[in-house]
Amino acid sequence: MKPTLLAIFAHPDDESFGVGGTLAKYTANGTRVVLACATRGEAGEISDPALATPETLGAVREAELRAACAALGVAELRFLGYRDSGMAGTPENDDPRCYHRADPEAATRQLVGLIREVKPQVVLTFEPGGGYGHPDHIAVSRYTTAAFDLAGNPQAFPEAGPAWQPQRLFYTAIPRSFFLQMRDRMRALGLDTSEFDHFDVERRSFSDDQITAIVDVSAQVDAKWAALRCHRTQFGPDNLFRRLPEELMRQMMAHEYFAQARPTPPDGAPKSDDLLAA
Ligand SMILES: [Zn+2]
Repeated sequence: MKPTLLAIFAHPDDESFGVGGTLAKYTANGTRVVLACATRGEAGEISDPALATPETLGAVREAELRAACAALGVAELRFLGYRDSGMAGTPENDDPRCYHRADPEAATRQLVGLIREVKPQVVLTFEPGGGYGHPDHIAVSRYTTAAFDLAGNPQAFPEAGPAWQPQRLFYTAIPRSFFLQMRDRMRALGLDTSEFDHFDVERRSFSDDQITAIVDVSAQVDAKWAALRCHRTQFGPDNLFRRLPEELMRQMMAHEYFAQARPTPPDGAPKSDDLLAA
């Protein structure tokens, strides 16, 4: 049977920046890659009013994600059917349909069912802080971790299918050095770095020691860049990542970083370069 990787994220575009190269690399080497997306990103930005309205944004972003999956070679995409909760503190947080307000048991059961159906060896999601603290990123990390821990237990949610225990759970995490390097490079080019000043790099990023796997995706940077550009409503000309010269951004996108959450690797273990290697 083909090895299978299941990536579970919150919004269309979460897959492209942090793990797009990894998804493309594994699909290219014959791994079955399944992407699940909790929402259609209904509360996201609209970079250009010609592209969408608040009413159509979910459908537009679904189409953007389908195009990004095609660019990455990801053939299987599932939506979990929740609504985007919006950034912390916005009125969308209170919508009862949003992921942040989901019933924890129902949200966990859904992911247990997904894991049991897809039968992955490896599961990927956000780290518990959700990258930059978006409520849906935090929720998807929490429910994916809970589901990883329960999917192999036949007593847990027996109605959600026969038990299946994936081997490893990885969190996508951006190492502190990446942020600092990006900020320094922007400063050196005389670009505005105020977004970094509002962002608590110490608290929001992983230390380089916490990163346990680094995947070289230099051969997938074109696919990753193409996927990012499919998310037109989110990745407009003002996007932070488009202010750097494209060549520099491509260099920075050539590696993707992970912290293995289950099982915890022993202290001092060498960093892995392959999420599927035992
Ligand atoms: Zn997101």
